[in-house]
Amino acid sequence: MNRFFLSSDRISGGEVSFPDDISHQISHVLRLKAGDVVAVLDNLGHLYQVSLVLNPHTNRPTGRVLGRELVDTEPQTRVALCFGLSNRDKVEWVLQKATEIGVVDFFPFVSSHTLVKSTTLSSKKLVRWERIIREAAEQSHRGRLPVLNRPLDYSVCLAEVKNQYGLCLIAWEGAVPGKAPLSSTLNGYEGDSIAVFVGPEGGFSVEEMSTAREMGWQVISLGSRILRMETAAIVLPALVLHEMGD
Ligand code: SAM
Repeated sequence: MNRFFLSSDRISGGEVSFPDDISHQISHVLRLKAGDVVAVLDNLGHLYQVSLVLNPHTNRPTGRVLGRELVDTEPQTRVALCFGLSNRDKVEWVLQKATEIGVVDFFPFVSSHTLVKSTTLSSKKLVRWERIIREAAEQSHRGRLPVLNRPLDYSVCLAEVKNQYGLCLIAWEGAVPGKAPLSSTLNGYEGDSIAVFVGPEGGFSVEEMSTAREMGWQVISLGSRILRMETAAIVLPALVLHEMGD
């Protein structure tokens, strides 16, 4: 069944209205017909079964709600991923895969070794990245859309995320594998929010690692092999969710 995230104000009185892009997808890409049933998610944790109605004059689809259910696919532990702004392909890969895995919050950052040095994000890129997140969330049957936060400078990102997440872990390839294993760090944690910070292609500077430690971020190792940024950005949230039973 095709799934679409819609803003909740498009679902009212048993009727559903679709924005232009999704109307086009329904009519011209998926070629769905009147009476076909689709799933509409309101990004508040509900899934609506919706029967399509095609207006013969405008050929625009609308929907009639057949039923509603709670979506139970979201992880119990909220995981945020902080990643260094890089080239478009790598960022889009991270956004797509981390959405499938269950990350709820993306914090792109700029640091001394990121390929991208500006925290300014063009509206075109923002719209494209949010579409990638939405499509990955629909494909992976997520119940809510992960949030793409505005890019921040390294230290600001550390501070802002530390205020929002109970346990904050920074992956450092210089950590001694046996001394900072992820499992022992997570073992005693009773909270429900964990932030993970993965460095850019060039890694962290010595000062950046000191800043993270001073701000209370816990250093963890991902083992003795060095992972690419886009690999670590997927592996770490997956391991965290697995260790937390999600
Ligand atoms: N110094 C690295 C190198 O020699 O290629 C560059 C950084 S690595 C490509 C990108 C990021 O992935 C690192 O900053 C770190 O956050 C994470 N990472 C990669 N391998 C890791 C490991 N074995 N343990 C902990 N973090 C790792």
